[in-house]
Amino acid sequence: MQNKKTTNNIITLYPSNWIYNAGVIGFLSCLDRDDYLLNNNSTKYEIKEESIDIFTNVFDNINIEDNYFKGDKQIIYLKGKNLYYPNFLDAKGKQKNIFKKFVKSFSNIEFYERIECDFCKEGLLINKELLKGDRDTIEQFFSKISQLNMVHNKFLGPSQKFKNSYWNLNTGLKICNLCTFLLIHHHLALTQLSDGSKIFINAPSFKLMYELNKLVKDIFGENKTDSKQKREILAMSIIGYTCRLQTTLGFWNEMDIDIITMRHDNFIDFYSLDYKTVNLISDIDIASLLSDIGEFYVLNSILNKTPEKLMELSQKIIKIASKKDINKSDDKFISSILRREKNKENLFETALKVLKLYILIKERKE
Ligand SMILES: [Zn+2]
Repeated sequence: MQNKKTTNNIITLYPSNWIYNAGVIGFLSCLDRDDYLLNNNSTKYEIKEESIDIFTNVFDNINIEDNYFKGDKQIIYLKGKNLYYPNFLDAKGKQKNIFKKFVKSFSNIEFYERIECDFCKEGLLINKELLKGDRDTIEQFFSKISQLNMVHNKFLGPSQKFKNSYWNLNTGLKICNLCTFLLIHHHLALTQLSDGSKIFINAPSFKLMYELNKLVKDIFGENKTDSKQKREILAMSIIGYTCRLQTTLGFWNEMDIDIITMRHDNFIDFYSLDYKTVNLISDIDIASLLSDIGEFYVLNSILNKTPEKLMELSQKIIKIASKKDINKSDDKFISSILRREKNKENLFETALKVLKLYILIKERKE
């Protein structure tokens, strides 16, 4: 993890653990809204290959009253017993004005102090002595957020809920003020699926995470999906990214990409797509062909690392298509493998596409 760089008007953020990454992506989704800032004209952020630059003037410009305290907007609601961040601010609202000043302070480098942070490494603290307001209320607010706990996220209760090889979440982690603010946006980065679970794609680059999670929301969000496996969703997003942007993942196809699932019972599952598979399905030719064929049997043959099944499939389809009379068992076989009408109606063409895919994969491996 690299250090956070801060200049007079830019804070550079680098990817860290998934919940922090989700917080950053969630915050960007707010910045993308028309009604989030009071003055929407200035540059808000710049996405680099790996990192992201946030222009600090945005913090001075956030419409906090509407976006954090009006339940009807349903972006973030912070007071009292809210859904994600219970008691982040007291129910009576005494800490509300402190929170407003707290957020504004990120726009002013004079308020900054440095601490070690378990999330972003070189953490950023707001000098609370410089904040104006009731001293007791200020102390209460800052002491509440100084260590990672339930106010940062309702689901950070028992640590056994977080089984993750690189991220053993436990209470008592040091968290800086900027990360505290970013973390309360993490739920906005999750996409809710029809089975009630919520997913986030975690990658080693903010550009990738921004695009992949946007794609996931477009394709699978708002209950559009039936029960697809999470690894299929992840793979389809990478294929979609490659096809839509007509670009490879570049350097990032050398790394694993994860999908994190927050199940409806609040347990969290992780699935990682290894870099070799990422590398394969993010090849433009392979991705376009996979997307064109659009069959899960074909996709899963690649995800299961059994590309020879594509060769077998192609031969079987050609054999059936060459028959004068297709019998019941042939029909059953075709229906069990091919879901798209277009593919069933053009068996020869489908077989050739599958064969071409097999050859492309073999060529890459050799
Ligand atoms: Zn931090």
